[in-house]
Amino acid sequence: MERPRVEVAGVAVSMDHYIGGGRLSSSTTFEDRSPLDWSTVLAEVSAGDASTAAAALSAASAAFEDWAALGPSGRAPYLYRLAELVDERVVELAAVECVDMAMRHESLRNRVISRGARNFRAYAELAEEYEERVWSSNGTINRVQRLPAGPAVVITPWNAPFMLATWKLAPALAAGNPVVLKPAEWSPLSASLLADLVDEAGLPPGVFNLVQGVGADVGPALTTDPRVRRLSFTGSPATARSIGAAAAANIVPFTAELGGKGALLVFADSDLEAAARVAAGQFDDSGQVCLAGTRLLVEASVADDFLARFNYHVDAHVLGDSHDDAVTVTPMIHPDHVARVEGFIERGLLAGDEVLRGGGRHVPDSWAGQPEHALWVEPTLISPASNDSEIVQNEVFGPVLTFQTFIDEDEAVRLANSTDYGLSATLFTGSTNRAERVGGALRAGTIWVNCFLVRDLTAPFGGLGNSGIGREGGDYALDFHSDLKTLQVKNETTA
Ligand code: NAD
Repeated sequence: MERPRVEVAGVAVSMDHYIGGGRLSSSTTFEDRSPLDWSTVLAEVSAGDASTAAAALSAASAAFEDWAALGPSGRAPYLYRLAELVDERVVELAAVECVDMAMRHESLRNRVISRGARNFRAYAELAEEYEERVWSSNGTINRVQRLPAGPAVVITPWNAPFMLATWKLAPALAAGNPVVLKPAEWSPLSASLLADLVDEAGLPPGVFNLVQGVGADVGPALTTDPRVRRLSFTGSPATARSIGAAAAANIVPFTAELGGKGALLVFADSDLEAAARVAAGQFDDSGQVCLAGTRLLVEASVADDFLARFNYHVDAHVLGDSHDDAVTVTPMIHPDHVARVEGFIERGLLAGDEVLRGGGRHVPDSWAGQPEHALWVEPTLISPASNDSEIVQNEVFGPVLTFQTFIDEDEAVRLANSTDYGLSATLFTGSTNRAERVGGALRAGTIWVNCFLVRDLTAPFGGLGNSGIGREGGDYALDFHSDLKTLQVKNETTA
């Protein structure tokens, strides 16, 4: 049964689960608050437990056979319809996501939400275009076929929640796997709107299920259930370890898209202005971006010039309400997260790091009456005491960058590759030879040269080391969600 919907940003949002094609509420709830107005409770959201998880997995299991039997071309129309609905509802989705997560409204309405539609279209197309690899050997014809694997559990983080949910959902559905989605408890609302779109698109009951809840409470019941055939996770390394243990226990393939500590390398031969602009842009949305280039590594001979240009662009940042198109640095997601970010800065100062700019809380004028609820930390640049400093080695996930210099390429590459992470790295150089050499030597899942955040959805996406295992994107995600089978037929077999 569904509780009355709650109006958020003018949109009626269900605060309940979506299981087997209908809404289901829990007797216990968790509070959802907006980073834009922390003093009020936005909604009481149903908090799933083991019985909710079991119900969702029963629905997904029951839906599996028919969904799998449709084949890629039978499933594609549902995905295309979902894409259309996302495009039609960009305004509503952006409005709710902006209040719930506080990402910039301008980027939500112009780019981020519609990426959800692109995700559904891309995977409908890719699954339909799949061509079996066929070859002869040993007197047989070999064919590689994709079999749908079974129910998939998809667990997502609080940043960019709608885009990331669709990015993980689309390949699972296209491959023939019913899904149980568990969004993060700090930004659960756009997932509920996604369930409405699934309903409107007419997906068969049980093909998509939404379980709301606190990760530690409902997560283990979802990830340890032996009916789950794929586990797809985006979030922190700590949570990935516990989900990975569940995957190991049930021998279930598992992908983990985790944190990053991206290097942003600036060579003296680069377009310093472009590099400085991109570096300053790492503070957008308060740096709550896994792919952010948070370690600025600059060739010593141009360090002063670069810093002057960087500071000019950082000075232009506007901290404030995410609805204001002039605002670039939005509030952080939660007071606990603000405290976590401040903890990094405080410990760094005690350990000898130097704050080059920022470092404190920021209270916009319109928050003067409630400074305790202002969730902004100033854009902060830190010169670390050494490369071993915690602030260099660990993901902050906030508006904090480090600044280090290098003398030559070898030192640049050594510093860039010196953390346990490897999600992305960004390189600015005017030399194509250097781009080849350094780009080839950097260890990360994605390297951008003279650009940033440019994405082709067919390219592999993922991280090395603490940044994750497995790859999303293109056929990589479809293969992950499939059981690959080789069919071998002896050559002289006749019809
Ligand atoms: P988190 O690990 O705390 O939570 C992620 C999800 O896991 C949430 O839905 C949470 O409820 C759930 N969860 C928590 N405990 C669980 C358990 N025991 N079992 C099952 N599920 C559980 O991460 P977060 O703080 O929400 O997200 C921030 C992190 O995500 C950062 O490290 C960021 O870099 C990373 N991230 C990575 C990517 C990427 O593509 N690589 C994208 C976005 C965010």
